[in-house]
Amino acid sequence: MQDIEFEVFNTKSEDGKQGKFDLTDSVQRKEYFEFKAGPEIEKLKEYLKDNTFIVYLLGKKSSGKGTYAKMFKEIVSPDKVEHLSIGDMIRSFDEVLRDEAKKQELIEFLKQKYRGPTPLQDIIKAMEERSTKVLLPSELILALTEREITRMGKKAIFLDGFPRDLDQVSYSLFFKNLIDYREDPDIFVMIDVPTNIIDQRVKTRVICPLCNTSRSLKLLPTKKIEYDEADKKFHLICDNPACTGARMVTKEGDENGIEPIRARLDKDEMLMGQVYKMHGIKKVFLRNSIPVEKVKEFTDDYEITPEYSYKWNEQDKKVDVEEKPWEVKDDEGRDCNSLMPPPVVVSLIKQLVAVLGL
Ligand SMILES: [Zn+2]
Repeated sequence: MQDIEFEVFNTKSEDGKQGKFDLTDSVQRKEYFEFKAGPEIEKLKEYLKDNTFIVYLLGKKSSGKGTYAKMFKEIVSPDKVEHLSIGDMIRSFDEVLRDEAKKQELIEFLKQKYRGPTPLQDIIKAMEERSTKVLLPSELILALTEREITRMGKKAIFLDGFPRDLDQVSYSLFFKNLIDYREDPDIFVMIDVPTNIIDQRVKTRVICPLCNTSRSLKLLPTKKIEYDEADKKFHLICDNPACTGARMVTKEGDENGIEPIRARLDKDEMLMGQVYKMHGIKKVFLRNSIPVEKVKEFTDDYEITPEYSYKWNEQDKKVDVEEKPWEVKDDEGRDCNSLMPPPVVVSLIKQLVAVLGL
């Protein structure tokens, strides 16, 4: 990304200390984290016994903010860490507004807590009509976010989707006072992902019509792949243990990749630039891609995202799967490989330990 230098973080094993982990397997993933960041994870666990922090996740839409935060929570402390997505929170109000009792409770809360230029009844109306024309004012987002955090109890929080607009950058600088996390540090985590990676993820994504699990034929297949003689195509079968399993399908519009969200991506990039310029705040930089020529020096092979291709084996009546490192162009036109989420989270863990001074 222009203007900000995201350094390549070294996660390569020391000589003679090689391991090999399947990072898509939850047990091996846990072993991997222990192997790569065991002492740092212990320090964070110790810190979280009596302290919290608030992290603002900044990155383009679909840059993996939620994935990284959830993985951090899973590995470091499921009890003491929360991921709060502002987008999910806003969407959850659809249900609240359909329930008369909950709706009244929300209105009462906002009467107490909301201060802003847009009349409350206009806001409620816009939320009920799911109108995207009326942007929900920042003052409202703040009040609702504060309410969610109070409900969670005192925990370390990864805030995903705030700040979302330029005026919210200033709010975020003082937000920890508002939620009474005064003594605890706040950290801005910036994530750099090449636009091509987001574009390819959207274009190759498929979802399960039953359980909405999202995968990718090219980048993140399930264990079960089916070849259809009729359309001569390969299809993923959902393997979510909680699902009965169905053929996964593409979502309408996904073939357009990032085109429909380009304005949003530009805004997200501008926001990061704005926060980058702020003095006196703690910053962490994460990057999802590595220039091909640096891969051998900075990573282990299994940390790189593979690309999958398929062939129908007529003789054995089965699908043969081929795997090779996925190569894409970054925003500067350099050949890059993409990192699997765990090494990015290792970088997050180590940088957090450093900025917290643990
Ligand atoms: Zn499913």
